[in-house]
Amino acid sequence: MAEYKGIMVYGELIDGKLSSITTELLGCGRRLADELKEDLLCILVGDKLGDAPKKAVAYGADKVYAAEDPLLKDYQTDSYVAVMEKAVKDLSPRILIFGQTSVGRDLAPRLSFRLGVSVSMDCLELSIDPGTKFLQQTRPVYGGNARATFTSEVFPQMATVRQKAMSPLAPDEARKGEIASIKVELDPAKIRTKVLETVKEEVAGVKLEDAQAIVTGGRGIGGPDGFKQLEELAKVLKGAVGASRPPCDNKWVPDAMQIGLTGKIVTPELYIAVGISGASQHLAGCSGAKNIIAINKDPEANIFKEARFGVVGDWKQVLPAFTEKVKELLAG
Ligand SMILES: Cc1cc2nc3c(=O)[nH]c(=O)nc-3n(C[C@H](O)[C@H](O)[C@H](O)COP(=O)(O)OP(=O)(O)OC[C@H]3O[C@@H](n4cnc5c(N)ncnc54)[C@H](O)[C@@H]3O)c2cc1C
Repeated sequence: MAEYKGIMVYGELIDGKLSSITTELLGCGRRLADELKEDLLCILVGDKLGDAPKKAVAYGADKVYAAEDPLLKDYQTDSYVAVMEKAVKDLSPRILIFGQTSVGRDLAPRLSFRLGVSVSMDCLELSIDPGTKFLQQTRPVYGGNARATFTSEVFPQMATVRQKAMSPLAPDEARKGEIASIKVELDPAKIRTKVLETVKEEVAGVKLEDAQAIVTGGRGIGGPDGFKQLEELAKVLKGAVGASRPPCDNKWVPDAMQIGLTGKIVTPELYIAVGISGASQHLAGCSGAKNIIAINKDPEANIFKEARFGVVGDWKQVLPAFTEKVKELLAG
């Protein structure tokens, strides 16, 4: 029987660079590997990996496996599952983690089925059980109203991890690690899909996920016009505008602006929630913010329990004065 050893991170590349979720997974994997006193492995799959394997070492990997082939230029289920199945069977990692991204959501379940093991999707926390040394996988359940911790007793123990749930390590370019190539043997006839076009999401200004200041509007904003005032404050703070689910469902703003359980997860320094009640599904996306400021006319609104500072009042009166004061403070 194979001896399962090491924590393996499936790394993703965006425009030839390690994606932010990959650096987050490497940070988490490093912690797990140190606890188990085993190696942190990273597998990178693509057409041309450039210096990405070296970067993976800088972010904490002990050993990077590079699978390079022109047939792996774009993510395609058939080719990537085949490469990963072979690599995981050959390398026998104890733990295998993916990002909860469009690729991870497709690849991890298919691979787990091929390997005959389970996978916990969308985890927020991963830890090692001190007694059994099994991976404990914590994820939201009941629509985000509770969290459950799962473990499995078969290897590899697999999980996908939500973006921004973990923190990357500071990269250390002087860190030493091993880089090995994986031989790729793919039959083009078995790749049943073709990528015709890749459309990039257009973002004006700062990307929501990267913004250090976010001004978010909820149902209390009342319509698309109110969001223009939020944009003004976000601009002053050099930040971005987000939304709770109702403004997106009502088409006041694009779906890409949704923050929460079924939207984006953000961890800015400053999160200003305007006309938002603070439902658990919304908080699932913003509770990692360092400072939450809430503006709500209902003093009993749940958001005040999470907020560091709160203003009880109608946002239409509070926000213009708030924005002017911020402008004044930043100018002086
Ligand atoms: C499976 C599932 C997934 C979900 N995913 C998400 C998600 O990803 N993101 C998300 O946000 N929600 C999500 N939801 C919906 C979530 O449960 C809430 O319904 C939603 O977050 C409520 O949005 P809200 O706070 O903007 O609206 P409401 O709960 O209606 O709150 C509006 C708030 O605005 C205040 N207000 C009204 N007028 C003013 C005013 N003039 N000035 C100041 N305050 C005012 C009110 O006092 C109130 O507190 C999900 C739900 C489910 C079941």
